[in-house]
Amino acid sequence: MSVKRVCLPFEKDPKPYDVFITRKTNFAAQIKKCRKLLDTKFDTIRIQATGVAIPRAFRLATVLNDNMKNTINIDVKTTTLLARDVINEDALLQERCVSAVVIRISRLYTCAGLISRLPRSKIDIFDRSAIPYGLIQYGVAPDHYDVKRCTNQFEKLIVDNSDRISLFCNVQIGQDLTFDELCRDYDAVILAYGANKARRLNIPGSDARNCISGSDFVTWYNGGFSPYTPLLDNKKALIIGNGNVSIDCSRILLSPVARLAPTDIPENALKVLRSSQVDDIQIVGRRGPVDASFTIKELRELLNLENCTVSTSISDNETQRISDSLEKFDRPKKRIMQLMLERRIPKNPNGLKKCQIEFFQKPVSIDKDPSGRIQAVDLQNTLTGEIMKVPCGLLIYAIGFENVLLPGLPKTKDDKLLLKDWCRVDSDVSKVYATGWCAHNPAGVIAQTQSQAVAVADEVAKDLRDYSGDRGRSGSRSKLEERKVAFLTFSDWKYVDECERMMGRILGKLREKIQNVSEFVKLGR
Ligand SMILES: Cc1cc2nc3c(=O)[nH]c(=O)nc-3n(C[C@H](O)[C@H](O)[C@H](O)COP(=O)(O)OP(=O)(O)OC[C@H]3O[C@@H](n4cnc5c(N)ncnc54)[C@H](O)[C@@H]3O)c2cc1C
Repeated sequence: MSVKRVCLPFEKDPKPYDVFITRKTNFAAQIKKCRKLLDTKFDTIRIQATGVAIPRAFRLATVLNDNMKNTINIDVKTTTLLARDVINEDALLQERCVSAVVIRISRLYTCAGLISRLPRSKIDIFDRSAIPYGLIQYGVAPDHYDVKRCTNQFEKLIVDNSDRISLFCNVQIGQDLTFDELCRDYDAVILAYGANKARRLNIPGSDARNCISGSDFVTWYNGGFSPYTPLLDNKKALIIGNGNVSIDCSRILLSPVARLAPTDIPENALKVLRSSQVDDIQIVGRRGPVDASFTIKELRELLNLENCTVSTSISDNETQRISDSLEKFDRPKKRIMQLMLERRIPKNPNGLKKCQIEFFQKPVSIDKDPSGRIQAVDLQNTLTGEIMKVPCGLLIYAIGFENVLLPGLPKTKDDKLLLKDWCRVDSDVSKVYATGWCAHNPAGVIAQTQSQAVAVADEVAKDLRDYSGDRGRSGSRSKLEERKVAFLTFSDWKYVDECERMMGRILGKLREKIQNVSEFVKLGR
């Protein structure tokens, strides 16, 4: 007797982006199939399995996630389905419930979304930086190279669609091209210009030497243009802010140089870090542990740093308060809180270096030595008002970023970008959208920024569904040429990329960044 089991509803109405996994599935072939679907046809695929095949589906998603790190979003739903056992397709043998899993894997990026949803569209990308990828280049820390790897997918997208995507680096919107010109030259304009303006620390003495923003410090260790080279000749450093940028700065300062050397950290930064005296860091935030904006991965990484005693400073009362309300937090927050409470006792009590994460304190003034350099900070306890002087030779403040409005953009009364809804910007001339850090609060990791970008791509595609692809708008390239703007293209970037990798190979690291890219390209090609 031949028995066929039919699971409802998905096997009844399969879509071309569905991938069904059974016990007999050829694993390698399915991986290949999923990649092909994502690379060539769809932004989203669905992996489905029932009963004993469920673990295979999870394994498939895990392997895809490892292969395509940071470029896909995975959403898992488990459910039960009514399965029908039938003989020879018609005679019903029995009906029963089976467990099932639906794993939705979506590609991330606005461009990727548009390229597949609007098959006849062409996309020009403008960036004021001489090289592409924004904060991934100049923000994400060098030891987070797994995060930086998400650029690989972007490169592939451009290479695979070189007739449809053009990159124009070294072009500042608002200066080389105006917003109005973009609206006239394109059927749709998507603003994704970030918010890389650090919030300033406005307290007496904050102009002291070696009192620098987290943004400048991060740009320095990432090989971007930073006005300061930090002085690391004093043991004690104070870092203001309870967020991931503070953690990144602390980790870079406390890491053994051998851990950083093989990354893409520039040699000049490495040289300064090699002779660094900093071995005692105090991270302080004005609010309590519950309000800290660390994410678990970054926090854990710092708390586990080798050769370093890292602990949180949380009072017994506060510990009790947090413990009592643990169940009210969502799962990620609960895990962060548990970790913070656990690490009141450090994992490595005998580390050579020390880092203490503290709460309910804010800097109120800075003392300078006769040369104008920072020598101490007055920290005020935000609960009691008590002030304590803390001697230190370096202060890094990482207290967030501010939105910047490009000239010509519609704005609200308080100078924020005026949005019609969650992503649309008012314009009579073109369809305009905003996404990423420039659109809303400048916060969130790449995965969050990217899923928003995909959602915006969806909206653009919906609005342009009847797009003819031929409305006589031919883009802004000719304007740049007329104005003799020295823009750099994707092939210029690949030239820089190759040179950086070759220098890296010589120096035994991932890459050595070129710091004067425009000059380098102009003189080298
Ligand atoms: C220090 C730091 C470390 C981070 N580390 C991590 C991490 O480890 N992992 C993680 O997941 N996330 C990390 N993030 C968050 C991540 O970088 C952001 O989520 C993401 O980069 C935001 O993307 P975006 O496109 O909005 O802005 P951006 O990445 O900043 O991109 C904006 C782009 O617009 C360009 N631009 C700006 N103005 C103009 C103009 N006038 N004309 C033309 N171009 C312009 C900029 O040059 C830039 O390339 C970090 C952020 C910071 C600040």
